[in-house]
Amino acid sequence: MTIGEWMCPRCGRTLDDPRSFVNEYWRGWSTNYFAWCVSCGWQGEIVEEKVVTAPELAEA
Ligand SMILES: [Zn+2]
Repeated sequence: MTIGEWMCPRCGRTLDDPRSFVNEYWRGWSTNYFAWCVSCGWQGEIVEEKVVTAPELAEA
C-alpha cells in the first residue's frame, strides 16, 4: 500500500498531491496515517488494520 493510493474520505481525491500531508506511524497492530487533504481541507487519521473486515466497502 502506497500513500498515493489513499483517498480522502470527504472528497474522494487521492492524497498523492505533493501539497497534501500524510504522516505514517504505527500504533499496536495497526498502521495509522495522519493525513491532510489539500483539495478540501479535511484532516484526520486513516487506520489500516492488520485484519481487515472493511464493512464500508460493501457498497463498492
Ligand atoms: Zn479531500
